[in-house]
Amino acid sequence: MPGCLFCNIVEKKIPAAIVFENEHVLAFKDIRPAAPVHALVIPRKHIPGIHEATPEDAAALGQLLLAARGVAEQLGLAEGGYRLVVNQGADAGQSVFHLHCHVLGGRQLGWPPG
Ligand code: AMP
Ligand code: ZN
Repeated sequence: MPGCLFCNIVEKKIPAAIVFENEHVLAFKDIRPAAPVHALVIPRKHIPGIHEATPEDAAALGQLLLAARGVAEQLGLAEGGYRLVVNQGADAGQSVFHLHCHVLGGRQLGWPPG
């Protein structure tokens, strides 16, 4: 999708601190970390948000969650635990409209979220 920041990261037109990639997804460190460990996992395919996903995207969504689990392990969060977050739309504060799953950990995370 032209003009999409995360599509540009997928296409390596914009640099990112990539921690994992495979044929389905890319994972990289969040540029403004909200926790000691904060990565984003995105599908290579442009899907604006979880609400725009369709049944056709079922495999991509599964790959996204499995990759998030793997990234959490790779970044040392398996033992202490971690949180996966998908923000959707204005009320959730979504700011980049290419689906992404936040992987957060490395400290005690508050609940409920703000
Ligand atoms: P959200 O608010 O859920 O849409 O999350 C978007 C996230 O993307 C935020 O946590 C930003 O800090 C992060 N972000 C924005 N631009 C970049 C970038 N160029 N590289 C890495 N993370 C980014
Ligand atoms: Zn995109």
